[in-house]
Amino acid sequence: MVFEAEVRESIQRTGDVISIRFTKPAGFDYRPGQFIFISVGSGDHEITKHLSISSSPTEGFLEVTKRLTGHPFSNALISLKEGDKLRFKGPFGKFTFQGEHEKIAMLSGGIGITPLRSVIKYVDDKMLDTDMILLYSNRHENDIAFKKEFEELMAKNLKLRIINTVTMPGPSWSGITGRINTDMIKKHIPDYSDRVFYISGPTKMVDSMLTLLTEISIPINQIKKEIFTGYD
Ligand SMILES: Cc1cc2nc3c(=O)[nH]c(=O)nc-3n(C[C@H](O)[C@H](O)[C@H](O)COP(=O)(O)OP(=O)(O)OC[C@H]3O[C@@H](n4cnc5c(N)ncnc54)[C@H](O)[C@@H]3O)c2cc1C
Repeated sequence: MVFEAEVRESIQRTGDVISIRFTKPAGFDYRPGQFIFISVGSGDHEITKHLSISSSPTEGFLEVTKRLTGHPFSNALISLKEGDKLRFKGPFGKFTFQGEHEKIAMLSGGIGITPLRSVIKYVDDKMLDTDMILLYSNRHENDIAFKKEFEELMAKNLKLRIINTVTMPGPSWSGITGRINTDMIKKHIPDYSDRVFYISGPTKMVDSMLTLLTEISIPINQIKKEIFTGYD
């Protein structure tokens, strides 16, 4: 189904990531973790891309969050102003969570966080009893999207643990470093074999997470994935 939505605001999340918030059109419902096809421009100049919804259905707006690449679709999103209108189709996707599992583990890198932010916020708003661990990898500490919000959610939800790792730490970084690997999973998610895994991000990142999970014998039916094609 095609919807039209009005821009409410843009939020700079990191140096190269922005969120765009829209009014939620009447009749549009979605599950946490789903994506939409969003279009900018018109006629021959229309460009359409998949974007995961970073808001939760419990919030009174619709939000997408985009890594800025300097290419036309990104640039069109940057130039959106309050009151501008956009068309989108959706929702789509099965990378969803609404409390079906008691314990989940989420592995993500960079912009792959968007559907997981939706899931985490949904679980918190609905006060579900889900035990959630997110292992989130970024290049620099300044690249961690939703950092402050995640810290606030963790402070009030003892069943939410978020571990950030950075691969190129600055001098003030005191957290863990390096890419997600099997030792990191075993250390920070000791009950990993009891959890359903949610992995999301660009193709290479998801492929390497799948390899790691195979190495630690997580069966494929215990893994849900969302692959952000388009960055290859
Ligand atoms: C299910 C799904 C969900 C997704 N969710 C999100 C999301 O929440 N947030 C998000 O940011 N993305 C998401 N994506 C990816 C998104 O759809 C886009 O593919 C991606 O953002 C790149 O689009 P772009 O217009 O910025 O860049 P594009 O112009 O499509 O370029 C993509 C890459 O191709 C290369 N490239 C393109 N043109 C050139 C050129 N002329 N010269 C050299 N290199 C070039 C660049 O390396 C660039 O980084 C999702 C994808 C899928 C499939």
